[in-house]
Amino acid sequence: MSFDPTLAAAQARIAAVRPADYARSRNAIDGAVTGLSPYITHGFVTLPEVLAGVAAQHRLDMQHKFVFELGWREYFRHLWGHTGAGILQSLHEGLLPKSAYAAELPADIRQARTGIPAIDMAVRTLYATGYLHNHARMWLASYVVHIRKVHWRAGADWMIAHLLDGDLASNHLSWQWVAGTGSSKPYLFNAENVAKYAPPAWHSPGSVIDTSYATLDAIARNPQALVGLPGAAGMDEPALSHAPPDATAPDAALVAGRDVWLVHPWALRLPQDLPAGTLCIGVYLAEFHSSWPWSHLCWSFVSTRMAELTTARWHADAATLQHALRGARSVRALTDPHIDLSTLAQVQPALHLFAEVTRPCTSFSQWWTRSTRDTRQLHDLPGLAGLSAGPLFDNPPERDSHDNKSTPDSPGHRRPRWHRP
Ligand SMILES: Cc1cc2nc3c(=O)[nH]c(=O)nc-3n(C[C@H](O)[C@H](O)[C@H](O)COP(=O)(O)OP(=O)(O)OC[C@H]3O[C@@H](n4cnc5c(N)ncnc54)[C@H](O)[C@@H]3O)c2cc1C
Repeated sequence: MSFDPTLAAAQARIAAVRPADYARSRNAIDGAVTGLSPYITHGFVTLPEVLAGVAAQHRLDMQHKFVFELGWREYFRHLWGHTGAGILQSLHEGLLPKSAYAAELPADIRQARTGIPAIDMAVRTLYATGYLHNHARMWLASYVVHIRKVHWRAGADWMIAHLLDGDLASNHLSWQWVAGTGSSKPYLFNAENVAKYAPPAWHSPGSVIDTSYATLDAIARNPQALVGLPGAAGMDEPALSHAPPDATAPDAALVAGRDVWLVHPWALRLPQDLPAGTLCIGVYLAEFHSSWPWSHLCWSFVSTRMAELTTARWHADAATLQHALRGARSVRALTDPHIDLSTLAQVQPALHLFAEVTRPCTSFSQWWTRSTRDTRQLHDLPGLAGLSAGPLFDNPPERDSHDNKSTPDSPGHRRPRWHRP
């Protein structure tokens, strides 16, 4: 997959979603997944816009696989909201004590030369594209934690630096889900599972994962790491950087007396009602980037879009940015949990698709039950209230072959009110 950092590319991906194919094939590495995550993570489009755009073209109901998966993203955000920085630590004990796991990711994994095709293909794909299919992320995380006995946090920190869709909640909580520190049991996989869902280049017969689930479970519970026979031909891990390629120090004179809209890496969009004359400034908060480096691919994806939207891009700590912005007439921004902009701007809350749940939920099913308690049909979802697909789809794409027939996942539902006639 490749990802142009443009709104048009995000719109094209929404238009290309085929929900019935998605539900049937999403577990397959070459299945009909959407590739929308980089655009969602960085705020090109919101979850409500994605669902409204898809529902404008296809019949969907609340039980559709696609709606569930959007729910997983919001559930992880829910957990983050309640747990804060606690998501960066094990939510509860895993299979083994923390001391049984290594703190560093071994070089043969980083260099895609474990000799296990499923793992090496996953690492190569991650480096080449900044994206990995969900199943491949699970295989990679499971291998790292349960076979190599590397602490999930080391794997999560490494992976997020290379992901175009890197999101602390979805990434670190998914690693915890695989590790068994955020779920009731660890996620294990074997070569047969890879053969079922991946193309031949990923198949791994005769490797350490070519065994039964009972054996894998015993391996996972044994503190001894299983080191394979590393393959010879590896590759270098792409370099990481803590600083954007094209940002400058803040310039107070530029914003003095002006209304300012702050664009940041998790809100690469402008509000539709932005008053004329508003100055758009891109900000990279040093507090975040000094802790979380990104690959060149990630920087390029974010900074290209940032340059398209803004007059200037600034990289500084919050205090320096605050100082530079104090002469502005007004400063506004969209909020996001990755960074705290509350001292810099009047922040607007992010749009939720699902009903917010105030009590913390420890499982997705608990959250889903509570969040959708009053949501019988798609158009009851709070995020879709008042949202039309219009701005995203001025020229609606052609309908696919599934639109005129009732599919197993769309058994003749009432059309949501934003559905085009
Ligand atoms: C170890 C691991 C690390 C992960 N790290 C991230 C991450 O940093 N950022 C991220 O957005 N997702 C992460 N995920 C979740 C999931 O793998 C990706 O959201 C998905 O693969 C993105 O590809 P897509 O847009 O083609 O997904 P699709 O299957 O087309 O799904 C559509 C959208 O639904 C949401 N979604 C789908 N599956 C999940 C899921 N399991 N969890 C949360 N949201 C989901 C995403 O917003 C996605 O864009 C991780 C999963 C694992 C197992």
